[in-house]
Amino acid sequence: MSSALQTPVLVLNRLWQAVHVCSVERALTLLCTGHAQVVVAANDGECRTFSFRQWCDFSEAAAPAAEAETVRTVSLRIRIPRIILLLFFDRFPNKEVKFTRHNIFERDRNTCQYCGKKFDRKDLNIDHILPRMRGGLTNWTNVVCSCIECNRRKGSRSPEEAGMRLIRKPKKPRWRPFVEVQFAVAADHSWRHFLDLAYWNVELGAE
Ligand SMILES: [Zn+2]
Repeated sequence: MSSALQTPVLVLNRLWQAVHVCSVERALTLLCTGHAQVVVAANDGECRTFSFRQWCDFSEAAAPAAEAETVRTVSLRIRIPRIILLLFFDRFPNKEVKFTRHNIFERDRNTCQYCGKKFDRKDLNIDHILPRMRGGLTNWTNVVCSCIECNRRKGSRSPEEAGMRLIRKPKKPRWRPFVEVQFAVAADHSWRHFLDLAYWNVELGAE
């Protein structure tokens, strides 16, 4: 496969929200099946969209792009899209934050939810607010990080019984669309506009 096909393509949903990154191959498939259009962001922030047909014409007509920026088929030479817009998908991907030890630490920011101090992960326990032996569930709303000292103090009691207070009510974290991608991928500069939007519009939850 040519390296051009490995260029990541930014995927916007119907509401122009950045939701995903896909391969060129996938982008072209979505394009030629009519599920997506190509977005070209000009420097002034104006965006043009192209259907598959229009994109083919544009690829032919525009000044010959560098070889690395095009793919060839038997009969066509197609410019590699950098951004595509999904025409029918208007939600964020239905992703759930996995209930893992790592994500509990992430949610609680390595901070004991009783005394509010930050610790190394090795010095933190996962505490069941209502103890398991009393029917407490192992889920986002009944589990928090706690330091060894607070954990010992609380023992097998509820926080009320132990005279302790949670620094905040534990909730299921929301999936943070795109924040990770923003920092993880050396994105094309034309992505910036959408990534900045995604960054600022991301729901951070109660903090
Ligand atoms: Zn503590």
